[in-house]
Amino acid sequence: MQTRMVAPELFRPPVVFPDVPYDHLLRKAAEQYPERTAIIYHDLYLTYREVLSMVNSVANGLHDIGLRKGERICLFTTNRPEYTVTFIAAASLGLVVSPMNPAYKEREVAYQLENSEASALLIQRELVPMLQLALQHTSLPNLKHIFVTGSQAPEGLPNAIPLSQLIHSSSPVYQKHADVTGDDLLSLPYSSGTTGLPKGTMLTHRNLTCNNLQFTTTLQTTPQDVALLFLPFYHIYGVMLMGSFLACGATQVQMERFDLMQSLELSERHKVTYYFTVPPVVLALANAPVDLGKLKSVKYIFSGAAPLPVDPTRRLNEKTGISVIQGYGLTETSPLTHAQPKDPACVRTTSVGLPVHNTEVKIMDLETGEKELPRGEAGEIVIRGPQVMKGYWKAEEETARALRNGWLYTGDVGYLDDDGYTYIVDRKKEMIKYKGFGIAPAELESLLMEHPAVMDAAVIGVPDDEAGELVKGFVVIRPGQSATPDEIMGFANGKLAGYKRFHFVEPIDALPKTASGKILRRDLKEREKAAHLTQ
Ligand code: AMP
Repeated sequence: MQTRMVAPELFRPPVVFPDVPYDHLLRKAAEQYPERTAIIYHDLYLTYREVLSMVNSVANGLHDIGLRKGERICLFTTNRPEYTVTFIAAASLGLVVSPMNPAYKEREVAYQLENSEASALLIQRELVPMLQLALQHTSLPNLKHIFVTGSQAPEGLPNAIPLSQLIHSSSPVYQKHADVTGDDLLSLPYSSGTTGLPKGTMLTHRNLTCNNLQFTTTLQTTPQDVALLFLPFYHIYGVMLMGSFLACGATQVQMERFDLMQSLELSERHKVTYYFTVPPVVLALANAPVDLGKLKSVKYIFSGAAPLPVDPTRRLNEKTGISVIQGYGLTETSPLTHAQPKDPACVRTTSVGLPVHNTEVKIMDLETGEKELPRGEAGEIVIRGPQVMKGYWKAEEETARALRNGWLYTGDVGYLDDDGYTYIVDRKKEMIKYKGFGIAPAELESLLMEHPAVMDAAVIGVPDDEAGELVKGFVVIRPGQSATPDEIMGFANGKLAGYKRFHFVEPIDALPKTASGKILRRDLKEREKAAHLTQ
């Protein structure tokens, strides 16, 4: 569908965004639209006024308990208003919010709490046993305050405070407890980055505030919009959507997790206008043997986080008449950097669209990263804009590799066409993407190495039509030892959140490595491709 030529400059001119702390976006929306519905969750409807007064109570409560600017609070819950309220309350105090995947197993929970040195945690009641297991793993001396969703303290965690107690016993009046500026850290989501173990990505108030406004300005959302949010709030894509729809005075319907039939029911019941998703859900909708008429109020289906295949997108569009818009970004960019134009005549289907407002893109040579390449030539995509992170938490070397001269080196390979549309063609970084979730091979390799029979290990993603990529491990078995791939897979998968699980493990005599001992994952990928072709 390559139709009208467009000058991108005409589309998304620079905009002056207010340099305000993150919570000010909600405060402003609540001033303008106090009685509009901000959040719908099951049968609970919360107006902007109600959300703000809960935010103020929680902020006052957290402050009274002794939490202070700069301390980290992990949020370990599925999507729900308590998550949203705590996130924004923490922002008002200058706390740093680290969202944590509720599917995490104990070692993953322990890693994030330990690495972020969190002093507080909001935990969903059902996840308390996982925290208890994590506490057996490690002592977590920094963790002083535990808040639990709901109204009762859980058994086994006598010091945990129910969040509702904080809401009901603290004043709902705003008190400015801390001076917070755009440069202050706001969030610490974990990402695999280009290499190594998962790292905290340091996002500031300015990063998230600007990205919310970049999103609402690019998509031209209005207070009349209703967004369906099942994308997880522990991933930056969900965080950005949660904040953006609050910033523009719209309504968001929060779902704990994706369920196709429920998403259709809720779209119909609440007259949803924006349906946000990832490519596997586009595929599921395109193939669903059900009537999609319940989506009739939906104006846009927006997909991001992984490459969107053209064929299911076209079929879904033909089936429903709804425009499917693709976006692109990274945890390191809060996340949005690109989106397709809303005007279908301006969409170039294989591209991720144009940079959002105030965002610059260059393509640099893959070898040195120092030479800018001309239009049409593929190289590493580098990005500059107000949404680019401050750096990685306690990882100076990785920060220096990712941020050079004010530009973020994304680890993605792509090119620009003559009108500035960006096309992603490959991923240079180690990250594996399973259904839009980023996975760090280094984390899985160190887990495989914990098996007594494994002497060496490497992990790659192998292409899969539905999931994007599946995790495959290669293991070198210790001389004199034995273990079947199934045994090793069982050992590792029991310790991992579902999306990181191994689909294949293959024994190998030796791993391909550079002279300095770095695993050549690309060689393993080539070997995999060749094996596929000869099958
Ligand atoms: P994450 O930090 O989990 O959001 O992952 C970011 C990575 O996801 C990017 O660097 C890309 O490799 C990939 N990604 C995100 N959106 C897209 C897209 N629309 N097309 C292709 N890859 C994407």
